Amino acid sequence: MIETQILQREIALAEYVPACIDVGKFIKFCEECPAYSRNWACPPFNFSPMNIWLSYKSILLYGRKVVFGEELANKQYEADELNSLIYEIMTPIKTSITEELLEMERGNHGSRALFAGKCEGCEICNRPTGQACIRPEFMRHSIEALGGDVEKTLKLYFDEKLVWTSAGRLPQHFFLLGGLLIG
Ligand code: SF4
Repeated sequence: MIETQILQREIALAEYVPACIDVGKFIKFCEECPAYSRNWACPPFNFSPMNIWLSYKSILLYGRKVVFGEELANKQYEADELNSLIYEIMTPIKTSITEELLEMERGNHGSRALFAGKCEGCEICNRPTGQACIRPEFMRHSIEALGGDVEKTLKLYFDEKLVWTSAGRLPQHFFLLGGLLIG
């Protein structure tokens, strides 16, 4: 049985940026990710992410804690099976969060949504072709793509710990965290 819990908390950027943003540190993790330079929402960028953080007053952190339950979390999976299961569970939740964040953005003049992870606006991102983003009106960056420390954010503001899959098993829970930058 899968349960989802809403994560929501507004933090002033005067506090959040010094506590959780380190563009130089997190670009190195992005470089190891398959989406690096293959998704327009991910680095490298032709702008400074700090300019975005410095253009707003607060961030409404918004996402979900996805709790898998004992039955799913105690089972051992083959690698492909585990990846498919995670995709099947997390994709609709990520889609809902994306739609909710874009709705919040429309309702908050001058705000900017930050997706929970890479942009999934197209079946295949066209960045590898060198062509511009097909849906710039949809595409938004994520907290981590702009140098945000999601692990520290979860700890500091939700008292939660980021956990990963291990030896073919799901952890007890996953997180999807995006946000809304508010001017
Ligand atoms: S909208 Fe499409 S082309 Fe643009 S970043 Fe997202 S997936 Fe890539």
